[in-house]
Order: sequence, then structure tokens, then C-alpha cells
Amino acid sequence: MALPFTLRAVDPGSRARRGVIETAHGAIDTPAFMTVGTRATVTGLDPRDLASVGAQVLLGNTYHLMLRPGVEVFRRVGGIHRFMGWSGPVLTDSGGYQIFSLSSDRTISERGARFRSYVDQRVHLLSPEKSIEMQTAIGSDVMMVLDVCIDSTSDEAHTRAAMERTHRWALRSLAARTNDAQALFAIVQGGVFPALRRESASFLTGHGFDGFAIGGLAVGDTRTEREDVTHFSAELLPADRPRYLMGVGTPPDLLQAMLAGVDMFDCILPTHLAWQGTAFTSTGRVKVTRADSGRSDTPLDARCDCATCTTSSRAYLHHLFKCGEPLGPRLLSLHNLHHYLTLMRDARSAIEAGSFASFARAKLDEIDRHEHGATKGIGKAVAS
Ligand SMILES: [Zn+2]
Repeated sequence: MALPFTLRAVDPGSRARRGVIETAHGAIDTPAFMTVGTRATVTGLDPRDLASVGAQVLLGNTYHLMLRPGVEVFRRVGGIHRFMGWSGPVLTDSGGYQIFSLSSDRTISERGARFRSYVDQRVHLLSPEKSIEMQTAIGSDVMMVLDVCIDSTSDEAHTRAAMERTHRWALRSLAARTNDAQALFAIVQGGVFPALRRESASFLTGHGFDGFAIGGLAVGDTRTEREDVTHFSAELLPADRPRYLMGVGTPPDLLQAMLAGVDMFDCILPTHLAWQGTAFTSTGRVKVTRADSGRSDTPLDARCDCATCTTSSRAYLHHLFKCGEPLGPRLLSLHNLHHYLTLMRDARSAIEAGSFASFARAKLDEIDRHEHGATKGIGKAVAS
């Protein structure tokens, strides 16, 4: 197996698991939050910054990287680790979600997705084989199969058709893999229909994938639907392989999914919101561009020990954003990632201590109290 995965502890009060994934570029402690580095960069942060906040694993986007810099650059340079100077593990998505969400000028057939590049207007074909070829050149530690993403409000017939094509594409992706050192995850689809999710998990787990993702969420579903599908789907997946919930990730989403036994996450929220001037703090979200921040000499989060909170006041951060200085979003990105990665570290400790169920409940209550339900629907807003 390309991806050794060891379970170290299971929480007695929930299905949460604490594990370790071994890759050629180092270990990933699970449950893990993967920092999104869409174009081989986490905007504004370099690899030393990422290490300083405790990032262990990055996610790169195949769709964007195939358009720019393209497959040849990765072949010449020798993969993404050398290209961006990051020595830790990397997971690449397959491009399926971007085809669904970004390409207006696209045609999807059994062969693959034909779309027009936003870089040079040329027409490209992204097929399961092309996606694996690109991810092989990128040299990611974990590759994803190309899947057919549809809106989760689609009817059952359309959802079934997309799921069945996803299955055929998954087998083509598996057959196209040329480097066994790169792990390959399949993606369970089936929208919000339990019978389809069950069928998808049953089909995919019968083949030699190294891990399994739950896809097709945060694309039109409600928070309740997302939690229900996550709990239901995670239970269908084998205990001895990592489970990855794709693209979902407010802190309450992560806590709920960890309770369901999910091991890996990615989400653009911490960095995306940082660039808009919003910080996640232990007392709820703080918008530093608001006028009251401009007069405050307190840190973003008095309970946070990150470099931003120990050196900068809210007034200074407010000033940077008002002036359009790039240091503002950079300092907020560092804080938000530190906040997320600390949540994951605390969650892992709680699972080891056998107290995760009460830890998660207390965190969820605290977040609800501070945000008064303000997190509901945010996944949809950001994913679209
Ligand atoms: Zn901080």
C-alpha cells in the first residue's frame, strides 16, 4: 500500500479517531487540516511561515496548476516540493470541482471535461487520465481521482448519473497511475441521497484505493444536510484507510465531521476570510476593517499566542487594511491558520485523552454562543 495509515486512538464517546499517515515527505497527524495552496502558494505566506503555524500538509489545485505553469514546468523542475520550496506532504485535488464551479464554457462527456482556459483562452481536455498525468508531474503525495461534481440540489436521476460516471472515472484513474509511491484516493458521491451514498461507497471500497473522500458537499446543501451526509458516509468507509471530507470547513463543520470519524479536511475559509479582513478568534469572528477595531489596542485574540496576536493590536491591523498594505492580510492569514491548526491539535489531544465528545460539545457551544448561529450557510457562500 502506498500510504501507511496507523490508528492510534479512537474516542470512546464518539467515532473520532487519532491517526498518523506516513508519506515520503513526512508524517501527517490526523485529524488533519490541509492548508490550501491553490497555485503552489498559500497567498502571501512562504513555506517558513507555514511551518511556523504548524502546517503539516498542503493542498494544490490540479486545474489551476495545469493551466499555469503547466505540466512541462513541473516535469523540468521535478515536482511541486522543489518548485515551491515546501518539503512536507502535498495532496492535489483532481480538478473536478473547479470544472464544475469555474468553467462556464465547458462540455462534459464520458471522455472528460473540455473547457476554455482562463489564462490563454485555449481549449483543454481534462480527462481522468490527464488529471493523473498532471498530478504525477506535480509529484503530490496523495492524488485524487477526477470526479463529476454537481449541485447537491440536483434530483436523484442526475445525481445517480454523475455518481456512476464518477465510478467509471475512478477506475480509469486507478488504471492510469504510473507511480505507486503516490497514493490515490477515490471520491464517494451521491449527493444527499443515502441509498446513492451507500452504493457509491460500496462500489469504490471494492477497489484498491489508498483512501476515500466524501465529495459533493458545500455545493448548495444546508449545514444539517452536510452533517447528516457526513455522518452517514463516514460510517460506510473502511476503518483502516484515511477519510477525507473535501472542501468543508468552518470550525463547527470540522468538529462535527471529526465526531463522525473523518480524518482529513481542507478549506479556503481561514485564508480567504483573512484577505477580507475577518479573523477567527476564541470569542467569535472579528472584522478588523470595522471602525471599532481602529481604536482598539487589544490583540485580535487575547488567548492566542501566534506571532500576530503577540505583536499587533487590532488598531494596527485595521490601519494596514485601510491602507491596502499586504502585511494586513498576511498577518491575519497567519493568525487564522494558527487558530485552525491549534483547534486540530487540541482535538487530537482530546481524542488521545478519550475526552473528544465533551471537548467538541464545549467548543460547539462556545462558538454558537459567540456567533449566534452566524456560521450557518457560510460553506455554501464561500464555495460558490
Ligand atoms: Zn493569533
